Amino acid sequence: MLKIGLTGGIGSGKTTVAKVFETLGIPVYYADDATKRLMNSNEFIKKSLIKYFGEGTYLDGILNRKYLANIVFSDKEKLALLNSITHPLTINDANEWMAKQKSPYIIKEAALLFESNAAKHLDYFIGVSAPLAIRIKRVMQRDAITEIEVVNRINRQMNEEEKMKRCDFVIMNNDEELVIPQVLKIHEEILTLSTRKK
Ligand code: ATP
Repeated sequence: MLKIGLTGGIGSGKTTVAKVFETLGIPVYYADDATKRLMNSNEFIKKSLIKYFGEGTYLDGILNRKYLANIVFSDKEKLALLNSITHPLTINDANEWMAKQKSPYIIKEAALLFESNAAKHLDYFIGVSAPLAIRIKRVMQRDAITEIEVVNRINRQMNEEEKMKRCDFVIMNNDEELVIPQVLKIHEEILTLSTRKK
């Protein structure tokens, strides 16, 4: 079974594209959702976050996302510390999930694949690319936030061009090209690859 990473910058349309693969019957692991779940359920993560970020990280045992976001999104080192606590457990959770799947290939959707150690567990990569102005507009609408807030989030990630260079397939999710035909083409190519030994 091939393991495919699906990545792209904030608002590029990773989740939207992943849902199209799901309609083709391909199992998808959503890493951001898994991390959120683990932050609320994994005792090691909970203890570590309280240790490094304070008691206020949890309110009645539930992650206080606003509190944590305020700390890590204004401090690069604290963000790296948070990622160093959560990433290994999400990677482990994803690997356990992958081991249970039965499909010619599976997809792991994550904003940070190359930035974390996740990439080494995967065989091929699909990148989702969209022009910066479109990404900003989409995220402002989706999350009801300002342009400055979106740009700040984007600036904390790896440059999109750099990310796409590392991908084996790139889906253009601008307002001109249709996404579904691009997904179908890549789906066929990966099915062919899955019949070969890597
Ligand atoms: P994030 O990294 O922030 O989770 P993402 O890369 O997963 O973002 P999506 O959530 O899939 O991006 O897309 C961002 C927003 O843009 C969503 O509201 C989605 O519905 C919208 N969107 C994505 N692709 C398109 C498209 N081709 N046409 C119109 N809207 C789109």
